[in-house]
Amino acid sequence: MIRFNFLALLIIILIQFRAFPQEKCGTVLLSKQKYGDSYQKKVLNFERWLNKKESESNKIFNFNEGNVVQIPVVIHIVHNGEQLGVETNIPQEQILNQLETLNEDFRRMNADSVFTRSFFKPFAADTQIEFVLAKQDPNGLPTTGIVRTQGPQNSYSLSQSDEFELKSSSYWPAEDYLNIWVADLSFTLIGYAQFPVSDLPGLEIAPDNRLTDGVAIDYEYFGTGFNTVPSSKGRTLTHEIGHFFGLRHIWGDGSCDASDYVADTPNQLTSTNGCPEISFTCESEDMFENYMDYTRDECMNIFTRDQSSRMHIVLNESPRRASLLTSPGLIPPEEYNNDLRIGDILYPGLIHSDEILTPEFEIINAGKTAVEDFTIDIIGGSNRITLTPTSPIPAGESVIVSGADLTLLESENFKQEILVKINFSEDENLSDNTKNKTFYYHPFQLVVPFRERFEGPTNWLNIDEENQLKWQYTNSVFSPSGESCIVGTFDNIFETIGNPIIITPEFDLSETNEASVFIDVSYRPASGTITDILNILLSTNGGESFDVNLATISASTLNSEPFRGSWQPSSISDWTRVFIDLTDYAGEKNLRMAFQGINNGSNNFYFDNIELFLSNNPEPLFLNEPDVRVYPNPSIDYTNISFYLDKIQDLNIRLINSRGQILEENRIENVLNQNYRQDLRNLSSGIYFIQIQGETFTTTKRILRQ
Ligand SMILES: [Zn+2]
Repeated sequence: MIRFNFLALLIIILIQFRAFPQEKCGTVLLSKQKYGDSYQKKVLNFERWLNKKESESNKIFNFNEGNVVQIPVVIHIVHNGEQLGVETNIPQEQILNQLETLNEDFRRMNADSVFTRSFFKPFAADTQIEFVLAKQDPNGLPTTGIVRTQGPQNSYSLSQSDEFELKSSSYWPAEDYLNIWVADLSFTLIGYAQFPVSDLPGLEIAPDNRLTDGVAIDYEYFGTGFNTVPSSKGRTLTHEIGHFFGLRHIWGDGSCDASDYVADTPNQLTSTNGCPEISFTCESEDMFENYMDYTRDECMNIFTRDQSSRMHIVLNESPRRASLLTSPGLIPPEEYNNDLRIGDILYPGLIHSDEILTPEFEIINAGKTAVEDFTIDIIGGSNRITLTPTSPIPAGESVIVSGADLTLLESENFKQEILVKINFSEDENLSDNTKNKTFYYHPFQLVVPFRERFEGPTNWLNIDEENQLKWQYTNSVFSPSGESCIVGTFDNIFETIGNPIIITPEFDLSETNEASVFIDVSYRPASGTITDILNILLSTNGGESFDVNLATISASTLNSEPFRGSWQPSSISDWTRVFIDLTDYAGEKNLRMAFQGINNGSNNFYFDNIELFLSNNPEPLFLNEPDVRVYPNPSIDYTNISFYLDKIQDLNIRLINSRGQILEENRIENVLNQNYRQDLRNLSSGIYFIQIQGETFTTTKRILRQ
């Protein structure tokens, strides 16, 4: 009986929470998570930019009919493997009624617009923004604008890793499509969007921000009826697309002094939940019927004229918003009888390590007839290879092609290009028959363990794109080891843009059970509100892609105080030694580390003295190299020989007794900063000598076997 009561109570509580979520929109939370300390600065930068664009445009948005714009959307149904129409694999009708609601809300054709209170009615706007399902997919093929795919997880939280899992499972280029992902979002979260960005350099957190751009909605809050909860009237999407076009929450995510940067929405103390009849805060009536509040769906019904103007400024000026207006997704693709196309070049990725490259790419038959009579030229390295198909490609189908081996030649900056060309004489559309891709051929290996102090030339890959920021070698500042280190000069963002990246040669940890790396870093932000970032990334596929973020180093992780002016370290106390345990990757080969600076325009970021150990001891011996220690001494069954050498080398180790006889001789390879254990169990007690001979030194240590 007791148990029954407890269960019943729990179910009631859960249902209530689900119906009245506390923080239902994750947009602001996620943005704060991504930008950390620099969130406020980013908001201010964006608002300053938007303000400037608004005054430059010197025209108030014109509310005439005929200014209606269309946004091409792709709806990704990321389901859990259910049958079509069941649970997360929501039915077509639910998708269509959601789009209808969205368009009614944005065009102020919603039936409940009559419920806007009379004193707010003069501010109500037809935003003249409409949403249409994409007619053409990224490959130029006809589409319904709806993609269904089984996702990698059963539900998705607001973490950045869950966000990436969800969005990478199905994605169309954000320059051309508004991506809408519909999936099971974790409890209380019902939707989130990505804010637009300015076109100023350096303000995005990562160059891949485009891969997460769009809106995610919980399937139970997407549309009305069908698989939704009873309270859903499809307004979660209206709200999130408001964010996507730059609108902020109507209460400004603060209290009375916080602004949503919109003139005709009254200031409001906090979010409104439920469905109030009246709410008066900050000395005025709250506009709780605004879509950018947290009111229940059935009680929202208005965007204002100033919100609408703001959305149009974003839509005209912001990258990945303005481009939507001219997207090919808006037009049905032209259809041809004979039309072959090159789709994605899937391989190589960023870096290729071997001399032989076997590229992989997609050929699409976008025409109405099957095609057999064509060839493909692949040009790269020292080769031009022609492939002929072994079977026809049916109309509307695509094939993945690989199998041509190209021999690569080293180039000065390691940069390479591969070009794929279709030769098909009957092709009626030649615009997409050629495609190229640049990548780096970097055939270098690092023997482990290793140490890099940037004192002389290295064969690390310092990616050097035209007009992009690059890591620089410098010897003009204090560095803890030697004279030189490497610096990203982030205090001059208007001269160079981008996020510099330097990448190690490939290394192999397959013979070790433990590994770690130390890096010395020095950084002071220009102010307390904005920080640049050093990301330490790992590739487990030889540099094709860098999928692991080992560490994110910023002003807050270093606990470093702001510094006015251009930062230059001048003493050992200006440096911090960062330890990263790599034991999770012990046993793997084809590894590379990348040091990526995220340039937020604050101050110089330095790093130096990168040392990889084949142990995961966070406090290893840092001796004055070359140095060798033997301990414990006296010893019983074993003694340890600890090396900290000036360079990696092979050693001869001899165990000699007091009469000068060699008892044992071993050769060990690639010694730098490791420990070895010498077995003494076969020895009787007495004095012995360990003689070590390397390339740069010879030493003899006396030990007492007890
Ligand atoms: Zn929101």
